[in-house]
Amino acid sequence: MIRFQRVNKHFGHFHVLQDINLEIGQGEVVVVIGPSGSGKSTLLRCINRLETITDGDLTVDGVKVNDPKTDINELRRNIGMVFQHFNLYPHKKVIQNITLAPVKVLGVSEEEARRTAMHYLEKVGIPDKAESFPSQLSGGQQQRVAIARGLAMKPKIMLFDEPTSALDPEMIGEVLDVMKALAKEGMTMVVVTHEMGFAREVADRVVFMDQGKILEEAAPAAFFENPREERAQLFLSRLI
Ligand code: ADP
Ligand code: MG
Repeated sequence: MIRFQRVNKHFGHFHVLQDINLEIGQGEVVVVIGPSGSGKSTLLRCINRLETITDGDLTVDGVKVNDPKTDINELRRNIGMVFQHFNLYPHKKVIQNITLAPVKVLGVSEEEARRTAMHYLEKVGIPDKAESFPSQLSGGQQQRVAIARGLAMKPKIMLFDEPTSALDPEMIGEVLDVMKALAKEGMTMVVVTHEMGFAREVADRVVFMDQGKILEEAAPAAFFENPREERAQLFLSRLI
């Protein structure tokens, strides 16, 4: 579903992604971990072309992301993204936050968009918040709305960039539970997170990045029990 082949990216003279090779199959859940500044967000953002790569090949569902002929809107339609700071429209009700893109981008009717939105709000456990404004919701609830909003576009891939990092501790679990359920249903997911419990339990693979490189890629059990790379060992030891 996603394939990086010798992908490099520079920000000016700064070599932020260095020879990235990574393949993610349909239905796979890959958790990306690593120190701050190692390039995790940039890696994610290349997938939906929020960032452009400098060289190498990146394909998503058979489409070359950086081919000038690629329709970016079509590409992005298939990729949902959830950010650390929910990025909901503050002046729109929850339901409108979710129906907006399906109506505008997919051209579905208002009525169908509402039905779909309610379906996903039920899925994330807050159908009763449909008519609320984001500011009336807790952080955990807002993030669940953001996930429902992504799902309402019926994407093939969901990207999560530290979705629980801005949440109070008591709200982290409810968001991770929604993500776990999504993973169980077979969604292809790339998740940047510091939640090692989630990585252990849900990931098919863990990717460890440091200074723009993928240093290690392994099944979670193998990675957490016996990280091969010294920098991965150090990173894990500091989390505890
Ligand atoms: P992470 O998500 O692992 O913390 P990022 O991908 O956000 O790392 O950033 C990796 C490095 O690239 C950091 O040193 C950051 O300062 C730099 N960087 C990120 N975005 C930009 C940008 N738009 N311009 C210049 N440098 C950037
Ligand atoms: Mg980041």
